[in-house]
Amino acid sequence: MKSINRTIEHLKPSGIRKYFDLANAMEGVISLGVGEPDFDTPWHISAKAVESFEEGHTHYTANRGLIALRRQIANYYRNRYGIAYDPDSEILVTVGGSEAVDLCCRTLINPGDEVIVLDPNYVAYEPAILMAGGVPVRIPLTQEHDFKLLPEDLERAITEKTKAIIVNFPSNPTGGVMTREDYARLVPILKESGIYIISDEIYSELVFAGEFCSPASFDEIRDQVLVINGFSKAFAMTGWRLGYLLSNPELSEQLTKVHQFVIMSAPTAAQYAAIEALEHGMPDIAGMCKEYEARRNLICARLNRMGLTTNVPNGTFYVFANITSSGLSSDEFCVRLLEEQKVAIVPGTAFGESGEGFVRISYATSMEDIKEACARIDAFLKTLHND
Ligand code: PMP
Repeated sequence: MKSINRTIEHLKPSGIRKYFDLANAMEGVISLGVGEPDFDTPWHISAKAVESFEEGHTHYTANRGLIALRRQIANYYRNRYGIAYDPDSEILVTVGGSEAVDLCCRTLINPGDEVIVLDPNYVAYEPAILMAGGVPVRIPLTQEHDFKLLPEDLERAITEKTKAIIVNFPSNPTGGVMTREDYARLVPILKESGIYIISDEIYSELVFAGEFCSPASFDEIRDQVLVINGFSKAFAMTGWRLGYLLSNPELSEQLTKVHQFVIMSAPTAAQYAAIEALEHGMPDIAGMCKEYEARRNLICARLNRMGLTTNVPNGTFYVFANITSSGLSSDEFCVRLLEEQKVAIVPGTAFGESGEGFVRISYATSMEDIKEACARIDAFLKTLHND
């Protein structure tokens, strides 16, 4: 057989899947591994999709998405985060944030361009960069600095070849959040270098204390920023596959070309549901957010008491627990915990080298399961001390 594309051949499968495959083959496993809300989509949102079928809306939409949805997205970003985007020329509706990540990379990167990623980072970024012919350059983040991006590290990483940086706050996997003050320190460097900033804001609604801040809210760099967001996390709509990409008109036109040829238009029924989500779904978000916060408080308190030092994350539904006191590597910790106590979590190394010594625990699951999982982790640690 002829060889296939070398980049694809050498891509490593996601480090998360391995644990799901192991866990799925076992009985009685509690999974704190998943990256999606345990809540179902609120019914008033789903009902609008059903209605759209009844009304015969079973055709393609405009390439950029329904104008009514783009107007809602524009209202949402303006009212919620104070950033204005033009629904006609600056908004593109995509198949999840996932498509948006790929579109950004394919549209911006020439072969050999460097793209800065934070380490640890979301598992899809580096493959997207590589598939577009780019070279990922990692900036390690530390627990000591709450997994935030520091100006001196950014400055050091930028070279002549840097095309873009991908940031994701609130962060999967660390739960870290950058404040306005944190970003303000980066803005002069970003402006001076002229690099693009791909800001994955998919967890923007899941911030517990203080305000979410987008780098696009700084006028000086607004046109360098490509904002990725979507409906999966905020409205518990992972299965609907709907996201969006906000950028200046010139970039948006180019991004839309790629989307047009690869996707045509995002799913129509999902777009009708999304209009309802933005119009009437804000109270649902508030309810889910409150529940995540209560779970976060419980899980962090329990983990810290067990000696797994965990920064209390200010966003998402993940904690990034430091497991070095166990004496095990991240991978050993996760494999043994699964085999011995039937709790599935993900090693920090699935998100980059700097994740060694950490595990990602998702609390997008019931309080009951969290309590039982904590009891099992505690039992596991006790057996280690007796080894
Ligand atoms: N970005 C991040 C940081 C994520 O965690 C995820 C989902 N796990 C996505 C993007 C993709 O989300 P979706 O395609 O469902 O919108």
